[in-house]
Amino acid sequence: MQEARNLTQAERCSLFLVENDELVAKVFDGQLESGEVRIPITHGIAGHVASTGNILNIKDAYSHPLFYRGVDDSTGFRTRNILCFPIRDGPTVVGIAELCNKINGLFFTKHDEDVASAFSIYCGISIVHSLLYKKMKDAQYRSTLANELMMYHMEVGEDETKVLLSSDIPSIKAFSPRISNFTYSPRSIPDSETLKACMCMFEDMGMINRWRINRRTLAKFCMLVKRGYRDPPYHNWYHAFTVGHFCYLLYKNLDSLNVLTEMEVFGLFVACLCHDLDHRGTNNSFQVHSQSVLAALYSSEGSVMERHHFAQAMCILNTEGCNIFENLNRDEYQKALDLVQDIILATDLAHHLRIHKDLEKMAKDGYDVDNTEHHKLLLCMLMTCCDLSDQTKNWSWTKKIAELIYHEFFSQGDLEKAMGLETPEMFDREKACIPELQIGFLDHIALPLYRVLGQVLPRTKTVVDAVETNRVMWTKLRDETKQRRLSSTNSLDFFHIQFKSELNGDKMAEEDEDREETEAKAQGEDKIDHNDNHK
Ligand code: AMP
Ligand code: ZN
Repeated sequence: MQEARNLTQAERCSLFLVENDELVAKVFDGQLESGEVRIPITHGIAGHVASTGNILNIKDAYSHPLFYRGVDDSTGFRTRNILCFPIRDGPTVVGIAELCNKINGLFFTKHDEDVASAFSIYCGISIVHSLLYKKMKDAQYRSTLANELMMYHMEVGEDETKVLLSSDIPSIKAFSPRISNFTYSPRSIPDSETLKACMCMFEDMGMINRWRINRRTLAKFCMLVKRGYRDPPYHNWYHAFTVGHFCYLLYKNLDSLNVLTEMEVFGLFVACLCHDLDHRGTNNSFQVHSQSVLAALYSSEGSVMERHHFAQAMCILNTEGCNIFENLNRDEYQKALDLVQDIILATDLAHHLRIHKDLEKMAKDGYDVDNTEHHKLLLCMLMTCCDLSDQTKNWSWTKKIAELIYHEFFSQGDLEKAMGLETPEMFDREKACIPELQIGFLDHIALPLYRVLGQVLPRTKTVVDAVETNRVMWTKLRDETKQRRLSSTNSLDFFHIQFKSELNGDKMAEEDEDREETEAKAQGEDKIDHNDNHK
């Protein structure tokens, strides 16, 4: 505005912006206004220019019918002439500028009018940009505020922390002598014990000492992660906990430190616990098609939910007293965050399918511990193995989990139908054939994945065998379903049917578990926990 004043040789300048049906003074007499001066858009010279969009060059202010003398009378200033011009954003008038009293002249000239008109275009652009910038800043503040609010309500109580810190971290074997067997399902640990079990896993893998993690910080971190999960049937805290436990199994049963660095194993474990934070029981495709806020934020980059899960993990790490990476040095800190990000993004099955060929090639060529690409691929693969690890447990668990998954899928399908969106068969309770879908899932995703795992890390053979056994069961159930010609409009009814093929199944599984338990106990008695060497 000062520039406009200099260009046209005016004594005074003012700027008003249009807000609804009012003009609000932003610059008055060349100074930024702090208090608010508002005038109706229908009022005076400024109002006339704002509502007509035409420039007004008034040579004698006092004789003009729209001029209001009240301000001059109260301030002692004498207005002689006025050049008032609109400022536009396209066809819309966003403000007006008023120049007062031509210096060394009787009034503003035609040349001044031209200068003002040209100037107003640039003025319009910068005003529109400032308004946009302000809107963006406001949106950022609102989002920060929403996060603060969320974190406040998630804040863990001192009492809860105390319970976790009240005694030394117990031996993880206290949960079950079979806890480090691939066949053990951590879903048998009650919800109230899962945080303690998490602390035990960190301890048993030597991570608390190695990364100098403060115990209180670790307890608060685990509690916030648990709270960061909602309660859909499948993608809840239990899922994250079981995924973390499979990472623990990889650590205990394989010489994972021969193929990965300590930092990579640490990053993988943390990523496992955080990888589905704030999952809403709906997938990426649903976010995009339902035009959710998450899709608006992340759909241009892809992997909408996974980006959100990582953002939530960062929120937790940034919460006071929860940063388990706080004692890492600068390089380690950066590395840890990069790992957690890359690994969480790799949980998008679309990402897994994109890298599957590279995984097969790595398996065929042989894993090279000096090849950084191999490290990245292996981490992504192990993450997916952890994520789908329900498929590696005994039949009874696998089937129970399938029920939870389809509960969630069908709820999404119901939502899609209600919103008039297309519903894929897998999400449609009226059309889905569960055993058929499970065989498809095993054949196209889970089995190829665990077979590559078996090739790269041959000691996981029992895991591959378990997935194969579950596939056999699904085929038996599919065949029985066909023979019985079951007709139901709700595919979930499948889970209430007693199948012949399942008779004795549970009993055999129980017997296997008992035998393993006895073996594990016997081993525990005459062997020192092999992790002690590591510590
Ligand atoms: P995540 O959402 O991170 O747990 O990624 C794993 C994805 O694998 C899930 O979202 C499902 O789409 C898919 N998935 C896992 N288990 C099954 C299953 N038993 N049947 C079909 N899809 C599954
Ligand atoms: Zn998951």
